[in-house]
Amino acid sequence: MTECSRCGEAEDVEDGRIVGQLDHWDRAVCNRCRATELADHTALVREEAEVKAVRQLSEYSLDDIADFLDLDRSTVKMKLRVVEKRINKGQVTRETLLSQNLG
Ligand SMILES: [Zn+2]
Repeated sequence: MTECSRCGEAEDVEDGRIVGQLDHWDRAVCNRCRATELADHTALVREEAEVKAVRQLSEYSLDDIADFLDLDRSTVKMKLRVVEKRINKGQVTRETLLSQNLG
């Protein structure tokens, strides 16, 4: 079982925790630790960071993410769009999203 390299917790989908890897990083991280990193180190607010974290760490579809985070599909879609908008406006760079605080 893969465990989060930050909090040490194993994946527990029932409990709202998935553990995955970012493409460029060989250590696993859970969506909660990742969301905290994104919220703390980027312009994303917590809810946006939570959606983005699951998106980054899983292969989940919008429906899966909505189900997992207990949100409406439209809310998930909207939040991902806001994240894209922030990237396009330069408030958050793709590089920051990928690399921030992973050392
Ligand atoms: Zn964790």
